[in-house]
Amino acid sequence: MAEISYSHCSLLLECPKCQVINYMDPFSFWNFSGKIKCAGCDSIYAVGFTNGQRVKGPDAAQGPHDRLPGYAQSKDFKTDYKTPDKVSLPTYARPPDQKHGPTYKNVRGKPVSAGKLTTADLVGSRPRFILEGKPYQPPK
Ligand SMILES: [Zn+2]
Repeated sequence: MAEISYSHCSLLLECPKCQVINYMDPFSFWNFSGKIKCAGCDSIYAVGFTNGQRVKGPDAAQGPHDRLPGYAQSKDFKTDYKTPDKVSLPTYARPPDQKHGPTYKNVRGKPVSAGKLTTADLVGSRPRFILEGKPYQPPK
C-alpha cells in the first residue's frame, strides 16, 4: 500500500512521532489557537487554525492541552481512539441521558410529548395576540 502523508491537510493532524491521524472536528477547531494532545502518544502540539486553514504548527509544546481531537485513528485504519481521555465527547443539544423535552399527561393519564403553551411561552411570537385577546396589527 502506498504511504500517504496527511501532513499538508489542515484539519487532519498527522502526529510526527506516532503517525496517528488526529481529526480536528471543524466545529471546535475552525478558528482555534492553542494546544492539542495526540490521541496516540499523548504528545502536546501547539496549533493555530483560521477559517479551517492551519496557520501555525504543529509545534511540540508542554502540557496541559486545551482541546482534544474529535476522533483519531492509525494510518492503517485498524486502531481507533474513542475513549474520553483520548478524544473529545460530541456536543449535545441536551444532556445525553435526557431523551426528549418535558412530558405531560393528557386527560386519560397517558404521557404525551407536548403540553399546552403558556402565555410566557409565546412571548415574542405572533400568536400571542390570540391569548391576549387583541386583534393582530402588522408592524408599521
Ligand atoms: Zn502521536
